[in-house]
Amino acid sequence: TSFGFKQVHEEEKARLVGDVFTSVAANYDTMNDLMSAGLHRLWKERLVSMLNPFLGMKHLDVAGGTGDVAFRILDNINKVKQSGIRNRFQDGLEEETQIYVCDINPNMLNVGKQRATEKGYGEDGSLVWVEGNAESLSFQNDSMDGYTIAFGIRNVTHIEKVLSEAHRVLKPGGRFLCLELSHVSLPIFKELYDLYSFSVIPRVGELVAGDRESYQYLVESIRRFPPQEKFASMIADAGFQKVEYENLVGGVVAIHSGLKI
Ligand code: SAM
Repeated sequence: TSFGFKQVHEEEKARLVGDVFTSVAANYDTMNDLMSAGLHRLWKERLVSMLNPFLGMKHLDVAGGTGDVAFRILDNINKVKQSGIRNRFQDGLEEETQIYVCDINPNMLNVGKQRATEKGYGEDGSLVWVEGNAESLSFQNDSMDGYTIAFGIRNVTHIEKVLSEAHRVLKPGGRFLCLELSHVSLPIFKELYDLYSFSVIPRVGELVAGDRESYQYLVESIRRFPPQEKFASMIADAGFQKVEYENLVGGVVAIHSGLKI
C-alpha cells in the first residue's frame, strides 16, 4: 500500500491472525476501550438492539472473542424478562436461551470464560463457548434465530465462506448482523482517521500491549476490507434478503444486516 506495509499473503493470513489474537488476548478489552475511546461499547449496544434478542432464543455470536457481544445479548434478554413483557416462550412453552460464543482462538475464549465467571454471566447454562472456524461451523442447518459477528469478519481468509455458513445455520426468519470497522469517505475526517489509525494505533499498541506489529496488521486489515456497498452485495450473494447497512461515526464502523427467508 501507499503506507509502505508489506502485503500479507492469503496463506499467511490465518496463521497471522492466530498469532495476533494470541498475543492480544490478555490486553484485548483494555485496548478496545483505549483505541475506540470507549465507543466500541456503544457500537455493540447498537448491534444488540438491532438484533432484538428474546427469551428462549438460540443465538450464535461468531468471532465472539472475550464474550462482549454475548454478555450484552444476555443483559438485553434479562431486561425484557424483568420488565414483565411476556412472549411466546414465557407462556407455557418454556425454552432455554442459548447463546453460543464461537471463536477460533482458545486464548480469547478463555479470557471470555473468566470474565463470564467474574461477572456472573451464563450461570444458568445460557452461554456455550465453542472453539471453531467461522468458515466451517459445527452447527446444524436452520438451527439459529440470530447470528452476529463483531469485528471478526475482516480477519477471516474467505469472507464468502463465512457468509454462506451464516446463512446455512440460521433458521428461516433468522437475522444476520455484522459490526465491522469500515470505510470513511468524508474528506477531512478521512485524513484525520488515516492519521489516527496508521500513526496512533500502532504506537499505542506498542506502548500498552508491547506489540506494534499486531496492531499495525489490524489497521492494515481495515483498509483491505470491502467497502460498505460491496460488502452488502456479498451478503446478498450469500442468499440473504433485505440487506441493509448503517454507518456509525461516518463509516468508521458499519452494521450490515440481512434476513434469511
Ligand atoms: N467479537 C469480539 C468483540 O467484538 O469484542 C472479538 C473481536 S476480535 C477483534 C476478532 C476475533 O475473531 C478474535 O477473537 C479472533 O480469534 C477471531 N477470529 C479470527 N478469525 C476467525 C475465524 N476464522 N473463525 C472464528 N473466529 C475468528
